[in-house]
This record gives sequence, structure tokens and C-alpha cells, in this order.
Amino acid sequence: MNGADCILIKGGRVVDPAHNLDTTADLLLEGGLIRAVGRPDVPAGCRVISAAGLVVAPGLVDMHVHLREPGYEYKETIAGATRAAAAGGVTAVAAMPNTNPVIDDPSVVGYVLEKARVAGHANVHPIGAITRGLKGEALSEMGLLQRAGCVAFSDDGRAVMDSGLMRKALEYSRAFGALIIQHAEDSALVGCGCMNEGVTSSRLGLPGIPNASEEVLVDRDIRLVALTGGRYHVAHLSTAGALTAVTAARVRGLPVTCEVTPHHFALTDSAVGHYDTNAKMAPPLRDEKDRQALLEGLARGTITVIATDHAPHDIDSKRVPFCQAANGVVGLETLLPVSLELVRDGVLDLKGCLATMTCNPARMLGIDRGTLEVGKVADLVLFDPEEAWEVDAIDLHGSGRNTCFQGRQVRGRVKTTFLAGRVVHRDGT
Ligand SMILES: [Zn+2]
Repeated sequence: MNGADCILIKGGRVVDPAHNLDTTADLLLEGGLIRAVGRPDVPAGCRVISAAGLVVAPGLVDMHVHLREPGYEYKETIAGATRAAAAGGVTAVAAMPNTNPVIDDPSVVGYVLEKARVAGHANVHPIGAITRGLKGEALSEMGLLQRAGCVAFSDDGRAVMDSGLMRKALEYSRAFGALIIQHAEDSALVGCGCMNEGVTSSRLGLPGIPNASEEVLVDRDIRLVALTGGRYHVAHLSTAGALTAVTAARVRGLPVTCEVTPHHFALTDSAVGHYDTNAKMAPPLRDEKDRQALLEGLARGTITVIATDHAPHDIDSKRVPFCQAANGVVGLETLLPVSLELVRDGVLDLKGCLATMTCNPARMLGIDRGTLEVGKVADLVLFDPEEAWEVDAIDLHGSGRNTCFQGRQVRGRVKTTFLAGRVVHRDGT
């Protein structure tokens, strides 16, 4: 081994949830791989990075991101979104297919992968559309899309409303072992609603979206999973009722999983405040009872993934009356600090918290990442778990500045992000 591309990360708190590891150790990287963990012999000329006081963890895996390219480059680009990912300690993102053109053809998959490779900030794993053009009418060519590089399938942004089509999707996906991700909102029950239906919507005089809009679809889909045996994942689960259904399905041994976003477990619909369009997303922020249920679901291990639903928008899409504003918030750069609140509040320990953003989503998507195992690609993040800072949209690295955490006092700051042993983000640069 020569010291040329060798890096020793020295004296950090090494946390690798995949191997139940939480210990002070050194990490030796070479040739883009993790070569040793512990107290390795260090080759002459090896670059040493002190990680004293820092946590050394696998690079985060965010399984729910909207890159906006191709088609909506005025909102964000693949280069911009993955730059934000690197700043957030995220080294792998799964990219939702609601671009223009839609990711329903291998040529679009190739385009996204190539743009991501050239940008070089993070690994991008496209998610293919369940239905052609996201129209909810005919299934896409899942087999071809998977061969081209798609790691899962979703019509995210809208639900697959047709029960027969959803049944077919779950049946066909079994042939490829593919994961079907549902944006569970019944469009008829959402209607013209633009925030959670409750006390706050009444006070503001805004049309509400009932919890039932999510629950009826999750209930239906679980029946279809029982019928077909397909792997099913609820995106951005937001209600206590849907969580009860997922919990019961998992007890029955059905292949059902779900994710929760930081905004849904950290905020309630009161964050809409005085018609703040940066608190508008789909599904909407719910009430405190739902939020508590999500925390319980995380603590019990029913919710195994935290994902951002990172959805950058241009300013004009948000600077309009509340109901006309685009849905969605950015989240890549607040994912880690807001999730660390779960550790301070005793919901999860650090290992359990990091598992929801590393090995759990990586396994679900079949991505060979999310661990610090020797021999694996050196995608990792070094962060100070205690450093306090205030979220300010101005400081974010992507084009989208539509954060719902503006002004929030958080703790936990990404110091360095490595992608295949290469530094892709350093705090302050
Ligand atoms: Zn969605």
C-alpha cells in the first residue's frame, strides 16, 4: 500500500448501525474503499484527518428526493441538488420520477445517471415510474427500467388511484423483486384541500385534507399486498391511522414498510402560522396527536426509514396565495440535525437514528452502501453532534431555499463528506 491516496480518519466515534458498532476508532481509506477500522497500521505518507469529538458514520442514504432535472431546471438541477446532499452528509439519493420527461424510459434513466456522474457530488439512484407518464393508466416497463438502473418504482407526487392497476404493479414487481413506493393520498378526498383538516385550517379559513385521504389508500394497498405478495412502501407517512395499518400488516408478516420525513415528525400544522407557503407540502403537516404517533412508530421500529421528500422550488412557485403555492420543502441539509433531535429527546439512540438514514434504506433499495464495513466503498460523513447553528435558507447549498425550518435552532453539523474516499463537502467551503 502506498500513501498517495490514503486517508486516516483518526480518533472519531465510529458508528456503523449495520454492524451494531459504536466505538472510538480510526478508519483507513485507500483507493476509494474502507481498508480498515480500529487501530490499523498506517502507510507512510498517509494523510491524517483528526475526527476527535466527531461522529464518523456511513454517508446518509435519502430514499426520497426530487432532483427536478430533466425539465424543471429553473427549480433545481441534478448538480445543485446533489451539492446540497453532500452538504447534508447525504452520499446517496433515490430520485423520484416526476421530472419532464418522466423517468419511465431507460433513456431518461441514463440521462439522470450521466448528469449525476459528471456532477460527482453524490450517488443518484433513479426511481422509475409505476405508470407511463405518471398518468395512472398503463404500467411502465419495470423490467427494462430496473435493468437500466432503477432501484424502486413510484408515481410519487400522486397516488396510483386505480386499484386494478395497483394490483398489477404489485404482481409484476414480484418478478423483479422490485419495491413499489406509494404516495398515499386519495385525490378525491384531498379535493381542493391545501393543508391538514383541523383547528388550524378552520382558523385560517383554508380547505382541509382529512387524515382519511392517506388512511383509505394505505388500507386498500395493504389488502392488495396480501393478495399479491408484492413489496410495498408508504412514502412520507403522516397519520396515526396509516401507521396503525402498517403496524398490523408488519405483525402479519406482510412485506410492508414506511418512511417518515423530518418535517412530519418535527412539526405540526400550526407551522402554517400566518399562511406560510414553506409549510405547504403533500401530505400536509398533521396535528400533535399524529406527530406523537410517528415518534412512537420510530421508537418501536415500525417506521424504519427517515427520508426528506426534498422538493426544491423556485421563489415564484411559493410567493403566491397559500392554496395556489406549490407543494414541497427542501430537506437534505436539515435531515441530520433535525433527526438528531430524536436522540436528544430519547426517541432513538444514535445508532438507531442513523440506521434509519443509512443501512435501512440501503437494504430496502438494494444499494451496496450505508455501512462502514471493510472492503466497501468509502462513502462517509464526519459530523459534530453537538455544534449548534440556526437554519437559514440563505446558507443552503442547492437552488431551492424553501425550507420549513427557517430560524430553527438545531444541533449537529456536517464537517466532512466523503464520496468513494474523495472529499465532496467540507464545512465552511
Ligand atoms: Zn410524495
